Amino acid sequence: MDLRHTQRLFVNAQLGAGQALTISGDQAHYLQHVIRLKPGETIRLFNGQDGEWAGSIGTLGKRETVIHIQQQTRPQSPQPDIQLCCAPIKKAHFEYMIEKATELGVSSIRPLLTSRTQIRDVNIERCTSIATEAAEQSDRLSVPRIEKPITLNDLAASFPAGQQLVVCAEVGEATAVRDAFQSHSLKTVSAVTIVTGPEGGFAADELEKLRKISNGIFIRLGPRILRADTAAIAALSCWQAIQGDWTRS
Ligand code: SAH
Repeated sequence: MDLRHTQRLFVNAQLGAGQALTISGDQAHYLQHVIRLKPGETIRLFNGQDGEWAGSIGTLGKRETVIHIQQQTRPQSPQPDIQLCCAPIKKAHFEYMIEKATELGVSSIRPLLTSRTQIRDVNIERCTSIATEAAEQSDRLSVPRIEKPITLNDLAASFPAGQQLVVCAEVGEATAVRDAFQSHSLKTVSAVTIVTGPEGGFAADELEKLRKISNGIFIRLGPRILRADTAAIAALSCWQAIQGDWTRS
């Protein structure tokens, strides 16, 4: 049965054959009134650990939907370890950035507070629901974590050894992204953090702080000044194409 066109739903619940899963609240409303699933129709479920499972819609109650889990359609596969550490920008662009970063395979998104960051309060719940919807749509088996915001100083002070830092630098010394990402030393990298600044860019002293992090690389994404969301998408695309999971045919 070709399940590619069936809806997908992320659930915070165990998944196993023969299980009857009760969905309530907004998700039940979504199933019944937005995608209007009918009893007997198939839906694919994933929870970030147990792979993807096909289920069939059972009873549709006023506030609850019961789904009968049938068989696993895909085993859980290792997810890339890519953190996007990005200064929050204007709402629509930031939400767009979260959706695209999810489609591009990030494992987590951490809002970065810099001296020129204008938007300093981030609605984690809203960001999580955007990431969840993008994960359902893009056939992912996991939803990126939306982390608590971190200041640039704390990021610089606590950057874990062994993690690869990549700073998108629109000014100052930086390596063209293709040359930077093709470097052999990156072949062994298992976890990378890609950093983008706010609309006003990084302050000079902030770039200096980031340069002090060992083995960090500063990349230039061409000669033009990109919006932060464009820069995040461009950097993630280059990483996936050269080092990440776009290298598989
Ligand atoms: N200072 C400029 C640009 C800020 S763009 C302004 O005020 O408009 C926001 C962020 O996008 C930058 O901090 C940087 O992280 C990233 N970025 C934009 N253009 C880039 C480029 N050509 N190369 C690398 N990063 C870039």
